[in-house]
Amino acid sequence: MKYTELVDLYDQLATTSSKIRKTEILARFLEKIDDDTLLRKALLLIMGTVFPPWSEEEIGVATKLTIRAISRAYGVSEENIEAKWKEKGDLGLIVEEIATRKKQVTLFQRDLTVEKVYDNLKKAAEAEGEGSQERKIMYISELLIHATSKEAKYIVRTVLGDLRVGVAEGIVKDAIAKAYFTDIIWEALLTQPCGEGKSRYDLIFEEKGRRVWIEKPAYITLGRLSSLKLRRFMENNEVKLVEREEIEKLESLWKKKSNVDMIILVSAEKGSEMKQKIIDLLERAFALTNDLAHVAVVAKNEGEEGLRNVSLVLFRPIRVMLAQRAYSIREAFSTVGRPAALEYKYDGFRVQIHKDGDKVKIFTRRLEDVTRQFPDVVRAVRECIKADQCVVEGETIGYDKETKKWLPFQKISRRIRRKYDIEKMMKEIPTMTNLFDIIYLDGKLTIDLPFKERRTLLAKIVEEKPYEMVLAKQIITDRDEEAQRFFEEALSMGNEGIMFKNLDAAYKPGVRVGHMVKLKTTLETLDLVIVGAEWGEGKRSGWLTSYILACRDEDTGELLTIGKMSTGLKEKSEDGTTYEEMTRLLKPLIVKEKGKEVEVIPKIVVEVTYEEIQKSPHYTSGYALRFPRFVRLRTDKSVEEIDTLQRIEHLYRVQRHRNEGGGSDGK
Ligand code: AMP
Repeated sequence: MKYTELVDLYDQLATTSSKIRKTEILARFLEKIDDDTLLRKALLLIMGTVFPPWSEEEIGVATKLTIRAISRAYGVSEENIEAKWKEKGDLGLIVEEIATRKKQVTLFQRDLTVEKVYDNLKKAAEAEGEGSQERKIMYISELLIHATSKEAKYIVRTVLGDLRVGVAEGIVKDAIAKAYFTDIIWEALLTQPCGEGKSRYDLIFEEKGRRVWIEKPAYITLGRLSSLKLRRFMENNEVKLVEREEIEKLESLWKKKSNVDMIILVSAEKGSEMKQKIIDLLERAFALTNDLAHVAVVAKNEGEEGLRNVSLVLFRPIRVMLAQRAYSIREAFSTVGRPAALEYKYDGFRVQIHKDGDKVKIFTRRLEDVTRQFPDVVRAVRECIKADQCVVEGETIGYDKETKKWLPFQKISRRIRRKYDIEKMMKEIPTMTNLFDIIYLDGKLTIDLPFKERRTLLAKIVEEKPYEMVLAKQIITDRDEEAQRFFEEALSMGNEGIMFKNLDAAYKPGVRVGHMVKLKTTLETLDLVIVGAEWGEGKRSGWLTSYILACRDEDTGELLTIGKMSTGLKEKSEDGTTYEEMTRLLKPLIVKEKGKEVEVIPKIVVEVTYEEIQKSPHYTSGYALRFPRFVRLRTDKSVEEIDTLQRIEHLYRVQRHRNEGGGSDGK
């Protein structure tokens, strides 16, 4: 496949902000690809990478090297490129400009293929050891020499991990569903706007050459919307009017079996149920493999059955199940049901432990491999877990070696980042791991078992050793008073709060479920990413002292600013993060400077409290935090995991509701 085809797709995706349109465009693109290897490579490139997320590898070519590659390809001096880059900030645009200017003189231009771009980028990323920098430059400049100006722009953006086409995982997942499974649409959707002044039904009328089933009563609605358009729609597509029974009889929604591209139904309930089944299967397969490109290949070739059979691969981390939040004991019970399992919510970091015989690996919830940093956890696994093969989950906390009191997350977080003096740190901050779930045991996934059975299995394979490895402290109750007592006990032990878990629920990887909730005391905090900062003045000069925060648009993946934070950090190194430390973290990430202000690569995630959320035209999110205050670094969270615009909108509404006298008991 020619790389220009992918570049056209990037352009189309970048120029629409509508999620539905992006999905549509991407689905049509995927449908065209028959070859599995090509599909895999193209999908990874669409997501701006050449590695699936389970692999810890990133393209990770430094800006300096990229500039050198550009210089080599076009014969422009590095200083010149660097100066332009400092001014504009986007090397992609700069290379496009240079390439347009230089085009007349290139005699080498020949068609780049998706495969060639993928292979070269991968080789550049993987080059190691002696001469590797030179090889990296060579692989990239080779691509640039043959690229058109537009291709060059996207190549450079991919190299730098900043594609800017606004396709988050959600859209890719929806597009996979649309490309390989019958699309289900119902009446209510037909009139729903999809952005850009269009409604869903406008999109449907743009369809051509599709096999469409329309449930008879829905046809009447369609006719009411526009008879002329409907006629054209009927002419352009292979349309069949059907009864509900015929739809019910469909065994599979996999297009290869169903032979239907789209079904227009009357009932929203039935429609969303049919649609959700496919989305659930895709989500599960994705969470287990962490590889959407692989999921796409399975969906294309094997449909529902293939997805259902997807399992995890030992030593590749899976996406964990996440909890919702409750604000009172009553609310927690009403969400998960009574009786429920209540557990301490330990203030440590989540570990996903993979074990096969003596081989053990520890992953964080960000799927980072921290095995090397925690030989004590590895030893505890070998001593305490009596299963040959398993994947279990728990929370590792640090404790004071003298008093044996549990320590807050901040202390142990130092160990997560530590790459040297590991033995020393291990003695300074010993850890214990509290196991709370099991995902896989001796060749079988256990995620579909009810929670209480998983806990029993876990208990069977764990030989507890205090201050090394134990089961999470748990009670089962249906009574508010008992829950209250347990909550207070948990807090007095230094925990963050407690968890409520439905006893019969399955483990849903990668999903924030309603059958597991957390109850904490503190006010809701937000996890946001730093996208810019300002140099301080006076005795704070030399430090970056105020930070521009951003949340994330769930649909497009775009980062949107929401406020400027300058309090909560320490001046001296006492207990907590200092301005100096923050400056050290941010400085290598600076991409642009203007006066006192700098722009940084969004990497540092921080937890922030605030007094209130206000509407504000000043920030791109449309909201501003009043008095944002730094709580702690969230090294365990990635930019993809920060709080979303959608959540901020929700909090804003809840807050308004409370201010207007609504509100809950807030316990
Ligand atoms: P949060 O990070 O605030 O979304 O809270 C969920 C986190 O609580 C999980 O990701 C775990 O790291 C942590 N946690 C601590 N104790 C437990 C427990 N007993 N069960 C589940 N999660 C726990």
